Parts: sequence; structure tokens; C-alpha cells
Amino acid sequence: MKKDSFFRLIIMIVALGAASYLAVHLTPMQSEITAERKDLTKAPVAGLHKFLADVAWMRFVNYAGGLSTIDTTNVDKVSEMLRKIISYDPNFLESYQSGILSISNADPKLAVRILENACSNEYLKNNVQIPFYAGFILSRKIVDQNNPDKVLSEPDYAGATRFFRMAIQRSTNPEPYIISNYIRSKAKARGGDESHAILSVLYDEWKMTKGKKGEIAEMEFCQIPDIEARMIKATRDAKYPTDENGKLVAPSANALKLITAVQKEVFADNHLCPNCISQTHPGDKFCARCGGGVPVWGVCSCGAVLKDGATFCSGCGKKQ
Ligand SMILES: [Zn+2]
Ligand SMILES: [Zn+2]
Repeated sequence: MKKDSFFRLIIMIVALGAASYLAVHLTPMQSEITAERKDLTKAPVAGLHKFLADVAWMRFVNYAGGLSTIDTTNVDKVSEMLRKIISYDPNFLESYQSGILSISNADPKLAVRILENACSNEYLKNNVQIPFYAGFILSRKIVDQNNPDKVLSEPDYAGATRFFRMAIQRSTNPEPYIISNYIRSKAKARGGDESHAILSVLYDEWKMTKGKKGEIAEMEFCQIPDIEARMIKATRDAKYPTDENGKLVAPSANALKLITAVQKEVFADNHLCPNCISQTHPGDKFCARCGGGVPVWGVCSCGAVLKDGATFCSGCGKKQ
């Protein structure tokens, strides 16, 4: 062996060693960044605990990775390993994200409890996924994989709503899937016909955005983007509900009452067809979608149809 190739081999071995060291230690550094941790001054004990959490995480990955499935027969051991990581380092993000999700089908109640604890962790207070996962687990019926008759947890829509709301409150720009999960679980918690419940949820959310700030408990409030566009679709769905086979059925009297209130209060200036809730255009006498008569708007007193946003009539020059 030539001398320079020998040195090259030594350098490679050193580089490999450094890389594997980094691989082990990168995870907690990332979790610090994601959690937007501000004080990076580490007490020696915290450093040791982080190291122990790393080691425990590697052991968890090794053990869980070797299992074909995590079910009620092995979940106690897996969750014990996870709890050890979290007890060393409560900010260890990976242990909540892939870790807790991996046990959610086998011990959903424990998974939610651990996530709920993490929700009140100051260092993870900007994390959106932790409350989302808790809501996601709570909104499903989970049965024992080995015994489908054994229900491990029934859906808890009110609980799920609380977590989804927290996820929205933590987002600067909430993801559409979080918003739809929030609306759906809040509607499910109300029960009854789903399209009616969804509209009633959106109506309440809309009223909250219009309400005076002091009237709403801050915990109850979360900003839903495009709420009026969502309400237009929800009103249409509530007016033309379908059964489980997709066949149109008649809306309930309560649904019709709600639709009337929404049309009057929310859609007063939206120029929607009162029958099918679709957009009408300046000068329309009838709805282009359903053929029903619609209130005419956007017409000058001279009879000319005004162009969208026009300040003056292009037929007679009158200021609008
Ligand atoms: Zn129409
Ligand atoms: Zn005119």
C-alpha cells in the first residue's frame, strides 16, 4: 500500500466517525431550532440529559424499527422507551412526532396524554403538529388491531376540536387540512345532519369575528381564513343535502331557518342567488345557474349595466 493512499484511508475513517457523531447529535439541535428556543445557554446537566435522550432515542429507533407492527402486545415497552426520552429531554421533538404517532394505534389514550403535556411545554409552544396530532388521534375510533371488537378509544370530537383550534391559533398561516379538521370535528361534536352542523359552526365562527373583542373568551377564538367563501359552499351543501348514497334529500326545517338567517346577515352584500346561492352578475334578472329570479343590482338609473367597480355609468356618464 502506498503511503498517500494509507493517509487517505485514515482521513476517510476520521470523516466517517465525525459524520456518525453528527448524525447522533443533529436531532436535538434541530428540535431546538424548530421550537424557536431562545436561551441556548446550556447547563451541564441539560447537556448530559440531551445526550441521554439521544442515546435513548437511538435505542427506541433500533427497537421500534425491528418490530413489524406496534400493537397492544408490545406498546407498553415502546411507550416506556418514549417516556424515558421525554423525561430526559421534554423538548425532544422527534419523540412526539414520529414517536408518539407510532403508538397511537395501540395506546391512543396514552399518546394523547403525552401530547397534551407537550402542548403546555413553553419551549414547544409554537409547534403546530403536536396539538394537531392530539386532535387527529382523538377524532378517530381506534380498535385493537388484534381484536377489532375491542375499542381502544371512541372519537372525542369536543376534545379534538380543542386541539385543532390550538393548532390554528399557533399557525400564522393555518394549513387547509387543519382548518377542515377543526370545522368537521366541531360539527361532529354538535351532532345531527352534518351539512347543517357545518354551516352552524361556520356561522358561529363568523359571528365571533364580527363580535366585539371583549365578548369572546380568547381561548375560544381562532381566525378562519376565507370564512365567507366557506359559508357560501356550506350554505349550498346545507340547502341541498344528500343521503349516504348521494341522493338529494329535503333539508330540515331547522336547516332552512339557519340558511335564511345566514343569507340575511352574512350574504346581504354578496349578490348571491337566493335559491342556489351562486354568484350573480350586474344586470342579471335571472340566475344563470338555476334560472330562478334574482334581485337586480349594478344597473344605472338610465338602464345601462355598470361595469365591475365603475365610478361612472358608461351609458350616461352619471356618477354612481
Ligand atoms: Zn340560482
Ligand atoms: Zn347611466
